[in-house]
Amino acid sequence: MKRPFMPITPASEPYWSYLQKDELWIPRCNSCSQLVFYPREICPHCASLEFTWEKMSGRGKVYSFTVIRRPFLPEFAAMSPYVFAIIELEEGIRMASNIINCQPNDVYIGQSVRAVFEEHENGRKLVLFEPA
Ligand SMILES: [Zn+2]
Repeated sequence: MKRPFMPITPASEPYWSYLQKDELWIPRCNSCSQLVFYPREICPHCASLEFTWEKMSGRGKVYSFTVIRRPFLPEFAAMSPYVFAIIELEEGIRMASNIINCQPNDVYIGQSVRAVFEEHENGRKLVLFEPA
């Protein structure tokens, strides 16, 4: 399946490298102890530049979602309809992803989900979620 990918930056390189090993790691600020997602150079909470990467459980709940039936980008046409969702990890951060391995109409807010790692044509992996 072809889909657009975010470029790998120095700040996000560990995130993508861990995904290749089917692991979800998120940086935690060394100064204010907040998890920071997406990974970036400067903590959005306190402007610190120092982080320690932490492995996430991969468990979370659906915070919000929508079903995409008419995708804006042609790369997403083959997977439509699909679920675009905001997942709240049990560690507290929220991330945008897709929910797969179920019918879009079966997704609901508060649903327990777990991370799955999907490899794409370019060899890179994405973290997606499926019902737990
Ligand atoms: Zn901070």
